Amino acid sequence: MRGYALGESHLTSFDRQFEALCRVQRPDRYRLLDALPTDVPRIPRGGGVSYVAASFGAGGVSQELGAFDRLLAFDEAAGRLTVEAGARIGDVQRFLLARGWYLAVAPGHPRASIGGCIAADVHGKNPARDGTFRSQVEAMELHAPLRGTVVASRQRNPELFEASCGGLGLTGSIARVRLKLARPPSGLVMRRVPVTSLAEAAAVLRESANARVLYGWHDGRARAFGRGVVWVGLSSDRAEGAVEDMPPRDADLPATVRALPFEVWNRAGIAAANGWLGWRWRRAGQSPESLAAALFPLNRARVYFAGFGKAGMAEAQWLVPHRRFDAFAEALADEVARSRPRITLIASKLFAGRAAGLSFDGNGVALAIQLAAPREAPQQRFLEALAGLALAHEGRPNLIKDSSLDGEVARRGIAGFDTARGQLAAHNPGGLHGSELSRRLGL
Ligand SMILES: Cc1cc2nc3c(=O)[nH]c(=O)nc-3n(C[C@H](O)[C@H](O)[C@H](O)COP(=O)(O)OP(=O)(O)OC[C@H]3O[C@@H](n4cnc5c(N)ncnc54)[C@H](O)[C@@H]3O)c2cc1C
Repeated sequence: MRGYALGESHLTSFDRQFEALCRVQRPDRYRLLDALPTDVPRIPRGGGVSYVAASFGAGGVSQELGAFDRLLAFDEAAGRLTVEAGARIGDVQRFLLARGWYLAVAPGHPRASIGGCIAADVHGKNPARDGTFRSQVEAMELHAPLRGTVVASRQRNPELFEASCGGLGLTGSIARVRLKLARPPSGLVMRRVPVTSLAEAAAVLRESANARVLYGWHDGRARAFGRGVVWVGLSSDRAEGAVEDMPPRDADLPATVRALPFEVWNRAGIAAANGWLGWRWRRAGQSPESLAAALFPLNRARVYFAGFGKAGMAEAQWLVPHRRFDAFAEALADEVARSRPRITLIASKLFAGRAAGLSFDGNGVALAIQLAAPREAPQQRFLEALAGLALAHEGRPNLIKDSSLDGEVARRGIAGFDTARGQLAAHNPGGLHGSELSRRLGL
């Protein structure tokens, strides 16, 4: 025993599909990162805002890095930031935007931590232009039992660096990170391009690949399937920076959205929301937008998440290669017409990267499909059918989002799954690091 303390907490995944009473360590100094006995199973935890249970599981200790949230060094001239891995992406962006820099790749939830963004190799508002989070990471310091403290970069310990980007916390606790920054646009104009189908949306996404912000929103109901709008965010010449637009911290989407006692997203609720959003958005046009609002649009979506009620939600996200996408979208439309699942929204994004390890990356169009009441049998059958269709069209699943995936589906969807698993195992002696997610997938 070396002076560490453990508490107990009920932890729940953001999608509410898994919860467990867990032992939690909240270290607040570096030596405590290495204080757990070397035979205690553990997993690092950042903001805990993954849809799935990636940073906890029954029987292990969640090592929560929230106290490691300091910004350590900022090189304003070169655009480099050294930061502790528990820092929240929203706070980091607030600091940087005020100084003429930002992280071009940031997920939609402002409470995601830097460590969590690396471990899930997240994407931002236009992965085709900016890549995934790993492209911004120059070096990291990891703490792992048996190995102690190790620095990993593309030059030093490159295998550990590669395995840790998208490594789902299985290679150890990232404590500090050096990040490469980008210059934000001085202003942003969001252009709305209405589309009548997912195939049409894919064409608009491909034509706009270089936009700063690029994603589609679509109706998932059978009668209007795929109808929606693609948002194309272009740099504008607005002289003033985006700085003062960043909302205060307490306006951020909370880590856990309190569920309403009833479910809003029944068929009538979904129809009303889609009708209203369609009326608001499905008109060609453009308007100026603050960069902060474009980076974190979900700060305005608390009611949406609360509306899933205690049953929670599911998100399935699949990246399908261009040459298979239109056929996939058509087969999906047929499946939706047949089984009429309760889809609350579909989001589309463009990718133009290289699939590495278990990361969600590649070259194609991704669809994120959110559903209500995921434990109801018809919804489960739809999720299974969706996985079958996506696999048949060479789709790649996003592991950090989808609680319905199992090891077999992940292996079929991710080329090189077994190799990536072997590389992770090499950096996880004795399988000491593990979560509900890693166990479900057999990692
Ligand atoms: C509303 C919402 C919007 C989202 N938007 C996007 C999006 O636009 N793009 C996208 O790609 N993802 C998105 N996500 C997913 C989210 O960004 C990722 O799940 C991210 O990993 C969450 O970070 P976290 O700090 O909360 O990590 P946690 O949930 O705490 O953990 C996630 C994984 O990271 C590991 N980890 C955490 N901290 C460390 C550390 N210090 N060292 C090593 N491993 C660590 C954990 O072990 C775990 O495997 C969204 C999620 C939600 C709920």
